[in-house]
Parts: sequence; C-alpha cells; structure tokens
Amino acid sequence: MKKMISFLLISLFVTSCFKGKNADLIIFNAKIHTMDEGDHVVQAMAIKDGKILEVGPDRQIMNKYAAEEKVDGEGKDIYPGFTDAHGHILSLVKQRLNANLVGSASLNEVLVRMEKYAAKSKSEFIVGKGWDQSLWGEKELPTNEKLNELFPDKAVAMYRIDGHAVLVNDFFLEKAGITTETKVAGGMIILKDGKCTGLLVDNAMDKISKMIPDFSDKQKMEMIIEIQEELFQYGITAVHEAGIDFKDISLFKKMIDDESLHLELYAMLMPTPENLKFVEKNGIYKHKNLSIRSFKVFADGALGSRGACLKHAYSDMPGHFGMLTTTSEEINRIADFCHKHKYQMNTHAIGDSTNRIIIDVLTREAAVNPGHRWRIEHAQILDLKDIQRLKASGAIPSVQPTHAVSDMRWAEDRLGTERMKGAYAYKSLINQCGLIAIGTDFPIEHFNPFLTIHAAVERKNSEDIPGGGFEPAEAISFNDCIKGMTSWASIASFEETRLGSLEAGKDATFAIFELPLRSSSMFQENFSKMTFIKGKKVYSAE
Ligand SMILES: [Zn+2]
Repeated sequence: MKKMISFLLISLFVTSCFKGKNADLIIFNAKIHTMDEGDHVVQAMAIKDGKILEVGPDRQIMNKYAAEEKVDGEGKDIYPGFTDAHGHILSLVKQRLNANLVGSASLNEVLVRMEKYAAKSKSEFIVGKGWDQSLWGEKELPTNEKLNELFPDKAVAMYRIDGHAVLVNDFFLEKAGITTETKVAGGMIILKDGKCTGLLVDNAMDKISKMIPDFSDKQKMEMIIEIQEELFQYGITAVHEAGIDFKDISLFKKMIDDESLHLELYAMLMPTPENLKFVEKNGIYKHKNLSIRSFKVFADGALGSRGACLKHAYSDMPGHFGMLTTTSEEINRIADFCHKHKYQMNTHAIGDSTNRIIIDVLTREAAVNPGHRWRIEHAQILDLKDIQRLKASGAIPSVQPTHAVSDMRWAEDRLGTERMKGAYAYKSLINQCGLIAIGTDFPIEHFNPFLTIHAAVERKNSEDIPGGGFEPAEAISFNDCIKGMTSWASIASFEETRLGSLEAGKDATFAIFELPLRSSSMFQENFSKMTFIKGKKVYSAE
C-alpha cells in the first residue's frame, strides 16, 4: 500500500514536471512539523537556493513545482533542525583530546585512566576532564594524596565534569605558585588541616588553566568535524557556543571558509579586553553561518562544587553561601556595554542570590529599553518571588533539562526541600516568560536531544529514573520542549526570521528522523536519517 502511494505520488510528480515552477529540491510524503505559529503539519515542501519556497499538501506542492532532486519522506517526522542553545564545542574538543574521565565509577578508575593517558603522552602536563564524585557515592570532593603518589614530578590537572573545579597535584600547585596563603576573588583554594588539598574552585582554577598548553589548530579542527557529524546524526544543526576567546573566532572562520563547518554557530564572547575591542570595531558580527552578538558572563559557580551563590547557607555546609565570580559592578558595566552595542548579555546564574542580582540588573536595563533581549543561562535556582519578576526584566531563561535529572542525586542535600520549589522549574519559567531556550551544556551532559526531551517532559534520566519523575509539577509539554530547541531558540539568538520553523522564505534547515518523535515513560533513542542545512544534505545515515 505504502509503495503504491509512493508510486502514485511519483507519477503525479513526473506528470507535473513539465508545467512546474523551478525548485532545487522537493520533499514529499512526509510529516513535516513546521513549528510555525499554528503548529501546522504538512506533507511536502519545495526548496530553492537554500530557502523554502512553499510548504503544503503533497498534491499542492507537486502540481506547482518541478525539481531535479526529490526526497520521499516515507511518512517520517521532519522537524526544523534542532538548536542546542547552550553548548561548548571547544570544551568537548579538549575533553576528547585530553584524558576522558567522564563516567568514572571511582577515584581509582579516574587515576587508572590518567595513568593510561600519561603513558602515551609526551607533554609535561597531564590533563583529564569529566570526573564526578557523586557517581562514586561520595558526598565530599576529592583530595590529591593519591595523585601525588602517582605523579610526583609531572604537572597533573583533572577537571570536574561541570568545569567549575579542578584537582591538581602538589607538583603543579608549586609550579603555579599556589600556597595556603593564596587568595583569589571569586574562587576557592580548598584547605584541609591547614594544607592545600589540590582542589581549586572557579576563579582559583585560572592560574592552572593558563599554564596548560593549547592543542594545535589542526588537532582541534579534526575533532570539531567529528563532533559536527555526531550533532547532525541527532538532527542538531545549530549550537549556541557559550563562551569563546578571541583566537577561536578565527578558527571557526577558517573552517567556515574552507567549507568544513556547516553548523549554524551563535557564539557568545567572553568579556575579555580583546573581545570588547572586537565588538567596538565590528559591532554585530556575521560571517556566513557564524553569528556573534552576545557576551557570556560567569556570575557564579556550580551547585555540585558549592560555588553557586545562595541567599541562605548551603543545607549541607553551614555558614557557606558560595560566591559571585564576577562582581555586580562589573556585571552592570558589561550590561551597559552590551546595551550600547546592541549585544546580548548571557549570564551564567545558578544560585538564587545570583539570579536575583541579574534580574535586578536587567530590570534596570529594561526600564531604558524594554525590547533588548537578555538571556539568563541556566536560571537554575530561583526564589519564587524572583520568578515573578522575570517577565519585567525581559530575560529569556536558557535552560538544560538534563541537568535536572543529573543533579537530582544531590540537589536537595545542597538546598533543602523549601528551595527545591524554585529549582529546575522550567514550567514556571515558561508560564512567566512565555518561552525558554533549551540546550544541554555539553560536554557536561550529552547533546542527545532525546535525553533532553525525556528529562524535560517525563523528568527522567536515560534509565527512566525516578519512576514518577523528578519534581513532576515542573514538567513541560512535548511541544514546548521542541519549541525550546527550535523556534524559541531562534528568538533567543535573533534568528527567528531565518531559522526555527519551516515556512516559506526561511532556511531549508531540517532533519528527517528514523522514528516518530514522541515522549513516553520509557526512554527511546532516535536518530536523524538525513539532515539538511540551507537545502544541502549535510548528513545521511546511509
Ligand atoms: Zn556552560
């Protein structure tokens, strides 16, 4: 029957060739979820010069257009290419080029992986990324005794999965000149019995990170291509790269110009002097698929390493509040700079104290120019009173649902029951702001969008835990989750006239999925069969 329908449609198509308007590509016999205002679902679309000419029923499109290339959608789901609205391609590159510690089940396993990596490395610096002590059933963060025994005369650094803490050996501490007396604003050097433990949190990591030599452009470019292929495999066609340096701009540009980087990149600049100068000179910057018009500001640390800044002390550490990693004067200064240059300020804000401070800053800015689109990255823990103030501040919350189902192992230990009400509260955020942008913060989480859907809609991890969902009252609908990865994400990056929905005049950027997209109580993996950017096939499962 299916074959007959296809045959019929192809015949229709052939007979219509002679009179049709010219197109480059026609997709037919599909279930195209346009994600337009009315959430229309159509069967076909005609594409020319990378843009959508028209979407509609098979008969309408086939009768009107003729094209050399046509793709039978075989009744499969098509969605606009997904956006990961908060990711770190360059951190993932480093995680893969360094010792990969993700998923280690014990400190011993971490050390074994480090030893294996060190045996092959010629560098005098041994770096690993991705450990998470909560996977070892360990509540406390580790110390460096064993690391010192294994590596007495090489500089060794191991970054925590969230990138907000690093464990280094004594050799490296000494090399970097870090002692028990060292003080760093917005950072912590963790001591025990009057001695350095080797654990450095937030800004205290800078001294170490600065000394580690970077990989070559060639190594990075090869890895970026590998990662891009994996993103396409999941139907992801855009990444909001959350924090790049000046030198990274030329790396991305080089890859775009030699046509090896096809992803849509919305890059957030770190507020370094070089980057500020770049903005003063260039203003809103666009180079083909690279768009730059935002700054990433780190206002606090992470909840896991107790760097998130809270209004009241941590429930599992009396007297400790976390801290701001950027002063509020500095945040105000950057916000004014952004306002002047029509840039977005995308502030990493985890703790309820930090979120309040950012909402204060944005409310002040909104009084001058209510249309400016600000973003709060993570918007993770908010006082319920502050959630009520979000709309007036003009902020778009940019959230990562997989964080909720990863952090659930220890979030309540840190926060207590009362504060959990405003934590990972995505439904409340949508109710207030009318939209959220959705990402994963990869490589902290995997960029798999189906894990995101499962976490956002079912509030469960890949093992379907917990059975009833984590804080199920804050679950969002399947459709809102897709919007967060398509149309709403495009608004959050000023690209809504070009990306985020499949409508006439917009880019033909979409994915055809192997299985129907849905949410169910059991996690289901899915993949793209074909991924297109601007009408060009960039990925095929075959
Ligand atoms: Zn991030």
